[in-house]
Amino acid sequence: MKILLHACCGPCSAAPVPALREEGIEPVAFFHNPNIHPFREFRRRLAAFRELAEAYGLECEIDRDYGLVEYLRLVVGREEERCRICYEMRLSETARKAKTLGLETISTTLLYSRYQKHELIRRTGEEIAAAHGLTFLYRDWRGLWQEGIDRAIAMDLYRQPYCGCIYSEQERYDKKLRRRK
Ligand code: SF4
Repeated sequence: MKILLHACCGPCSAAPVPALREEGIEPVAFFHNPNIHPFREFRRRLAAFRELAEAYGLECEIDRDYGLVEYLRLVVGREEERCRICYEMRLSETARKAKTLGLETISTTLLYSRYQKHELIRRTGEEIAAAHGLTFLYRDWRGLWQEGIDRAIAMDLYRQPYCGCIYSEQERYDKKLRRRK
């Protein structure tokens, strides 16, 4: 069975891809992440994803466009909802891509992260898949957290220090903001 697996980055794909293969599922990885800013960070994460795809012999589809403007148009003024919007953006495009490729099932490596809103990802994925006549393959890969880190380190992959958007970059480095929160 083949599925379209939205890949948020290389390190977060490191454990889910082998886990799927163990189940007899071959993922086609789709890199579409307009939420990664700024541009040099986007390029760096894309390069790490390509390295992983090469090392794993992974079939992949890559959206090389830097999506800052597209992302901000949807998020500005609705910052409190930004993660939901961000998941919707990426998973909607994944569903559209799956239709183009003739694949019937989608999933996402976001389900690997301990720092993401796991239930929201699940709900969003299921709703979007259903709206496109697709199936959302839900897996809780958070238990593979350390395995993914170990694999990424073994491959010497770049591991990012913040989620992706410029807001998350500030939350990571702005101590005053963190204290206020
Ligand atoms: S914090 Fe992460 S999931 Fe939330 S909007 Fe920013 S990049 Fe997207």
